[in-house]
Amino acid sequence: MPTDNYLLLGQKKRLIEQLRAKGITDENVLNAFDKMERHRFLESLLWSQAYEDVALKLTTDQTISKPSTVAFQSQLLEVKKGQKVLEIGTGSGFQAAILYAMGAKVYTVERQIALFKHTKPLLNDLAPSVITYYGDGFKGYPQFAPYDRIIVTCGAPDVPQTLLDQLVIGGIMVIPVGVESQVMKKIVKVSDSEYEEEDFGGFVFVPMLKERVRRPTY
Ligand code: SAH
Repeated sequence: MPTDNYLLLGQKKRLIEQLRAKGITDENVLNAFDKMERHRFLESLLWSQAYEDVALKLTTDQTISKPSTVAFQSQLLEVKKGQKVLEIGTGSGFQAAILYAMGAKVYTVERQIALFKHTKPLLNDLAPSVITYYGDGFKGYPQFAPYDRIIVTCGAPDVPQTLLDQLVIGGIMVIPVGVESQVMKKIVKVSDSEYEEEDFGGFVFVPMLKERVRRPTY
């Protein structure tokens, strides 16, 4: 869906060049950033910042990750068209939409009812095949398991075994692990009990918290 706002369109092209300069080489990721309009996932007051490489606050006090972080996690995930991808932490829906634009069948879980209700119709509109689910990401989304890929977009205290169990053998999970700050981990499931793990530097995410919540904000 091309935007009619040429200023934003120019900013989007610049952002894609910045992502290349920051080491994003997967053309599938870069194409997805070209197709998806990040400003549509933000309130209009924030549109002028939509294509800067910064994390922004959502109305419910959660954050939409920096574009370079979304691109980096998407690249680590090595998504191939048609693969089933589970995302934990729907938030604004932008990461889910990028994975959709990369050709994945996306399932995304959010624990905050307000965000779930806000983002579901947005994704229906902009990334129609994405399945949204109001639930606790520590439990994954067993109904549609196993998944080829799992991406966690909140800071996890540890690597939940439940999520590893919902990954196919040969599947990849990308998860930021840590409490105050996180280390990005890429985990390959080699067999039912063996995993290969690699670290990819430090990041700061909002925490992955247990249980669904109905409070509008916290
Ligand atoms: N992928 C999002 C990033 C949002 S920030 C985006 O592109 O905008 C992380 C999100 O994870 C927040 O919305 C937070 O509410 C959610 N979250 C935290 N713990 C969770 C859990 N246990 N299950 C599901 N979502 C969780």
